[in-house]
Amino acid sequence: MSLFFDARGVLQSELLSQFSWLDHGFSTKHSASWIENRPLAFARQIHSADVLTASAPGPHSHGDSLITSKRGIYVGVKTADCFPILLVDPEHRAVAAVHSGWRGTTANILSATLGAMSGRFSTTPNNVRAAVGPGIQECCFEVGPEVAVRFGRVGRCRVALATTLHQQLITLGVKPTHVESAADCTFCGNGQFWSYRREGEAAGRMWSAVGMIDPP
Ligand SMILES: [Zn+2]
Repeated sequence: MSLFFDARGVLQSELLSQFSWLDHGFSTKHSASWIENRPLAFARQIHSADVLTASAPGPHSHGDSLITSKRGIYVGVKTADCFPILLVDPEHRAVAAVHSGWRGTTANILSATLGAMSGRFSTTPNNVRAAVGPGIQECCFEVGPEVAVRFGRVGRCRVALATTLHQQLITLGVKPTHVESAADCTFCGNGQFWSYRREGEAAGRMWSAVGMIDPP
């Protein structure tokens, strides 16, 4: 299972594409407009492990994960190097969009999200489908000792956030066959992704979103 580009240049997950009642996507810098004019709920992202429940489109409070069981709206996160993760519970018809950089990953925002989905929607991880979108990969994500130690490493080193996120999902009870990850690196990926590390404040953001809306 892997991610693929659709006709709009939006990355799609094969796992998530199988649900006819669902629309989702991970944009590149060239396809960020795919989410425009859609009913999108989004948070004020702060690199936390805080989870918000969305029941209407528009801006929400501070947090880095949005969950919903409401039909007709999308939940989305914006990223440039951090990882976007979309979660779907097809049994209880609930979805989540998660923003996870190194802070969110070490705080295990995926655990917080699945915990919130369990509490609100009775989600069980063994039914959840997870798609990890494009972020900065091990090839380009060098960190200093103060970050390395949070990953059990010593000294300046390269960290594989995608691998850690994948392991967290499996540890939380998501089936390996229900996890899909983008191989793309936002930093060295052919100029098709925004990279905060490469472009600094000038970097745009890519929107990743999922909603229980019939695909257009
Ligand atoms: Zn790279």
